[in-house]
Amino acid sequence: MSSYDYLIVGGGMAAAAAVRGIRSLDHSAGIGLLSAEGDPPYRRPPLSKGLWSGEKEADLPLPVDGAELLLSRRALRIDLASREVEDDRGERHGFRKLLLATGGRPRRLPELEGALLYRDLADYRALRRALEAGVQSVAIVGAGFVGSELAAALTRAGKQVDLITAGQGIGDRIFPPGLVEALGRFYAEQGVRLHAETSVKAQEHSSSGQQLLLTDGQRLNVDLVVCAVGIQPNSELAASAGLPVGDGILVDPFGQVGEQPVYAAGDVANFFSPFLSKRVRVEHENHADLHGELVGRNLAGAGEPYLEIPFFYSDLFELGYEAVGELNAGLRVVEDWKEPYREGVVYYLQGERLSGVLLFGVWEKVEQARGLIRSGRPFLPDELPGQI
Ligand SMILES: Cc1cc2nc3c(=O)[nH]c(=O)nc-3n(C[C@H](O)[C@H](O)[C@H](O)COP(=O)(O)OP(=O)(O)OC[C@H]3O[C@@H](n4cnc5c(N)ncnc54)[C@H](O)[C@@H]3O)c2cc1C
Repeated sequence: MSSYDYLIVGGGMAAAAAVRGIRSLDHSAGIGLLSAEGDPPYRRPPLSKGLWSGEKEADLPLPVDGAELLLSRRALRIDLASREVEDDRGERHGFRKLLLATGGRPRRLPELEGALLYRDLADYRALRRALEAGVQSVAIVGAGFVGSELAAALTRAGKQVDLITAGQGIGDRIFPPGLVEALGRFYAEQGVRLHAETSVKAQEHSSSGQQLLLTDGQRLNVDLVVCAVGIQPNSELAASAGLPVGDGILVDPFGQVGEQPVYAAGDVANFFSPFLSKRVRVEHENHADLHGELVGRNLAGAGEPYLEIPFFYSDLFELGYEAVGELNAGLRVVEDWKEPYREGVVYYLQGERLSGVLLFGVWEKVEQARGLIRSGRPFLPDELPGQI
C-alpha cells in the first residue's frame, strides 16, 4: 500500500492549486493525487471557449510539482480510523492529511437519457468526434454558463444550435431582465435558435437523429443533444465517511472538515463567506484556484482563513463579462450602462449592502469591485452609479 503525507482526491483545478499551495511551504512531502479522470489536471474553462477557437489541448495542463498521479481511479471509501482511501481497483492509499477536491458532476435530466453531458476533456473529445463524424445540428438544454458558451462555440463552428431553457433566457438567474432580453436578441442575430420558457417533454431517437418534443408543443429534429443544466457537488464520498455535508462538503474558514485531518476545496466545498454573511459554494475557476491554493497551504500547516471574494467570467460570442460576489437576479439591481447591454456595471444590493458587481464589457475593474464589497459600506441605490 502506498502512503502519502497529503493525499488529494480529485484531479481538477482545485487539486492542482492545492499542490501549488503545499509546495509553497513543503518541498519534500509525498503528495498523491488520485483522480477519476484519465488526464492530469488542466484548465477547464477552455472546454467551452478556447478549444473551439484555436487553443490546443496541449495548452491546458496545469503543473502538479512532484505529485504522484494516480489517474483513472475513483475513490470509493474513506477509512478515517486507519487514514486510508480505497479506490475502485481495490487498492488502498494511506494519508496523514486528506484533501477532497472532488468538484461536481453535471446534473442529468431523466427525460434526456441519451444526451451528452459536458464537464471534462473526455466530454469535449466526444463532442468533437461527433461533429467530425457529421453532426450538423445540436440542441443544448440549459442556458447557464456552459450552455450559452457552448452555443456560441458551436454556432461559430458552423453548426445549427437550438438553445432550450426553462427560464426566461440566457443567464436569467443572474442578469437583470433587460440584459436577458438583449442577449436573446443578440444570440438570435448570431444564428442561435433560442427556445425560452420551455423544456423537453420527451426525446425520441431515430436513425436520422433525435426528435425533441418541447412542453410548448414544438418538435425539434436534431443530430445531437447536450444537457447543460448545472452541476451537483460530488460529496457522497465525504458523506459515506460520516463527514458533514449539506450543499457540498461543509468546511471551516481553513478548509478543514470538522475535527478530522480532512479538508475540502473548490467547487465541492461549502464555506462561510464573511462578506455575504452566509454559507456558499462557488463553482468558478478563480475560486478553485484561490481556495485550492489556500487549503493546500493549510494542509501544510499555514493556518490561514479564506477571506477572498472570487471573481468569475464568461464569454458570449464577442461579448463578455467579469463579475464579483453574488449575482442574483432576485436581489435589487442598479444598472449603470455606458452603452446599453454592451458596456456597463450592474450593482446587486441586499438591503443597503453591496453583495455583487457585474462588469459587462468592462475590464480591469475586478479589484475595484472587490474593494467596494469588502468595504461593507451601506449604499442607497442612487449612490451606486459611477462608483466604478
Ligand atoms: C465547460 C466549462 C467551462 C467553464 N468556464 C468557466 C469560466 O468561463 N469561468 C469560470 O470562472 N469558471 C468556469 N468553469 C468552472 C470551473 O472550471 C470550475 O469551477 C473549476 O474547474 C472547479 O474545479 P474543482 O477542482 O473544484 O472541481 P472539478 O473541476 O469538478 O474537478 C473535480 C475532479 O475530481 C474528480 N473526482 C470526483 N469524484 C472523484 C472520486 N470519487 N475519486 C477520484 N476523483 C474524483 C473529477 O473527475 C475531477 O477530476 C467552467 C467549467 C466547465 C465545465
